[in-house]
Amino acid sequence: MPTRIHAIHADITKLPVQAIVNAANASLLGGGGVDGAIHRAAGPELLRACQLLAGCDTGDAKLTLGYRLAAHYVIHTVGPVWHGGAQGEPALLASCYRRCMEIAAAQGIRTLAFPCISTGVYGYPIEPAARIAVATVRSAVQTFTEIQEVVFCCFSDSDLAVYQRLLREPTWE
Ligand code: ADP
Repeated sequence: MPTRIHAIHADITKLPVQAIVNAANASLLGGGGVDGAIHRAAGPELLRACQLLAGCDTGDAKLTLGYRLAAHYVIHTVGPVWHGGAQGEPALLASCYRRCMEIAAAQGIRTLAFPCISTGVYGYPIEPAARIAVATVRSAVQTFTEIQEVVFCCFSDSDLAVYQRLLREPTWE
């Protein structure tokens, strides 16, 4: 069965998937936006687990349990801050999606939800960010065939519209 890749408008902390991705900062010690929401919903055990991870590089990802979340796991990834696009941002953002897929597959995770990494406080414009998200996930599912479902969890209707348009475009590979 091919992997189902689709976009929805939802609060990622509520999704009944096996793993949700957190758009964290390099300290992994909590922040605002989706990171704050995930920590609030998961409870204080999540912060204690993150404290043991010694941070995370931009473009990389690390795994914890999901504690009080419906999701069993959280994959914390650190997206690039947008500086105009010529400072390696596209490759770093693609690396976030790729590493999360790799970690999910290694852990036997079959259903996974991503927020729109870097597009909040980190300022990455939604259109190019979503294009990278869709292209990288489409490519990664060909390697990590055990992943059955990938959800792009949008927090606004306008983000959802961008993803839905991109997901309607055919894959040429
Ligand atoms: P970053 O620092 O990587 O830009 P943010 O958390 O500021 O991370 O924003 C990333 C995306 O997550 C934004 O599109 C924001 O609207 C979205 N977001 C914020 N809260 C939630 C939530 N509870 N569920 C899903 N997405 C969320």
